[in-house]
Amino acid sequence: MNIGISILLSLLLGLLAFLKKALTIPALILAVIFSIFIANYGGLTSFIILLVVFLGSIITKVFNKSKKSEKRKLIQIISNVGIGTLSLIIFKITRDNLYLLIYASVMAESLADTLASDIGTLSKKEPINILTLKKGEKGLSGNISMLGLTASLIGSILIALIYYIGIERNITSLIIITLSGFLGSIIDSILGSAIQVKYKCEKCNKITEKKEHCGKKTNYYKGIKWIDNNLVNLLSNLIIFIILNYSLI
Ligand SMILES: [Zn+2]
Repeated sequence: MNIGISILLSLLLGLLAFLKKALTIPALILAVIFSIFIANYGGLTSFIILLVVFLGSIITKVFNKSKKSEKRKLIQIISNVGIGTLSLIIFKITRDNLYLLIYASVMAESLADTLASDIGTLSKKEPINILTLKKGEKGLSGNISMLGLTASLIGSILIALIYYIGIERNITSLIIITLSGFLGSIIDSILGSAIQVKYKCEKCNKITEKKEHCGKKTNYYKGIKWIDNNLVNLLSNLIIFIILNYSLI
């Protein structure tokens, strides 16, 4: 897409994020920069995919009251859109359509993941841990529910359909994007359960990902100390990127 229109659309996206109080200021600036790259290098369909991923994170906040006041930070923009932007920069350099497909696939994963965690926590049933299959707390990484899995599948299909209509009418690509998005969010849950740092609140005994709970500092419980949810999101995006790079060339 023409650079002027790319900047204009990206500023409009930034304005929407600002009005919805969805992002902190540094996150907003980086999101606009990534968006300019995405629109300029990837074209209108790539921009629409970004817009849908972004709207997904806003819409779920409306339903999920516990996340309403949370603004997404710079690190979250990097972990959710960074690998996607990188894919389009490689597309620009190589002109290989494969990287448009990889872009859609990692973005499908980001949307699937956002929907799984924000909608999944609304499930009335207790979720189960993806590795131990034991019942656990809602909203904790690694715990999955039918509602969360369904939301993540729908998110992946949505991105795959946008790609199908806007870029390439190819059923194989449609399936690759859908599976990448869905399996990526499964990988995210496995990493979330296996290696992500968890804390324990000494006041209410709950296991949490937060450093503070019940107004008090929490204690280390398990996982690798420097691996938080953002890094897990980035890693699962990167894993999808690497798998597709090696399996599709
Ligand atoms: Zn607590």
